[in-house]
Amino acid sequence: KLQECYCDRPGLLKILDDLTDQILADTFETQDLAFVGILAGGAAVADYLAARASEKLGITIPVAYVDIHLYRDDVIDTDHDPLTRETEIPFALKNKHIVLVDDVLFTGRTVRAALTALLAKGRPRVVRLAVVVDRGFRELPIHADFVGVRLETRRDQAVRVRRANSPQEESGIYIFE
Ligand code: 5GP
Ligand code: MG
Repeated sequence: KLQECYCDRPGLLKILDDLTDQILADTFETQDLAFVGILAGGAAVADYLAARASEKLGITIPVAYVDIHLYRDDVIDTDHDPLTRETEIPFALKNKHIVLVDDVLFTGRTVRAALTALLAKGRPRVVRLAVVVDRGFRELPIHADFVGVRLETRRDQAVRVRRANSPQEESGIYIFE
């Protein structure tokens, strides 16, 4: 059941643009920059951030995705770790400056699994983490370097980050319970 609309479409786009600026302000070797989205929720966010960053820098920044089998996507009632599935990275990770991207950071178990999947494919020089929403409740020593918004949620709530392609559709950040 919808509890609260944190922001609408323009608010979400502002958050994503600010996130892009945070990332670029921290990235010196932009020629080595690449985005890696955590499927499924992080993929569209990674696409958007990469497109904005590419636009701002006037270069094409590569994007790849890591596939993590999620037991806890929106349903938060399990003690199992997310398992790692097949991951395709279409560029060499060696010496890359990787920005790992997800929509929502919660316990940190998904990021832990994504790092395992990513590092099995090569040795980037540095990996940073960008998330649209940090809703707290970490269970591992994982933090995001770039955060769109920190939301106070209860454990039993869920956050939705949605950027629909048409302005007519419902877009924004919502809290459900
Ligand atoms: P964690 O593994 O940190 O507990 O949960 C993060 C992962 O689960 C992310 O991939 C995210 O997509 C999903 N997730 C956790 N909580 C929420 C939530 O409230 N809303 C959404 N959309 N995804 C969540
Ligand atoms: Mg997810």
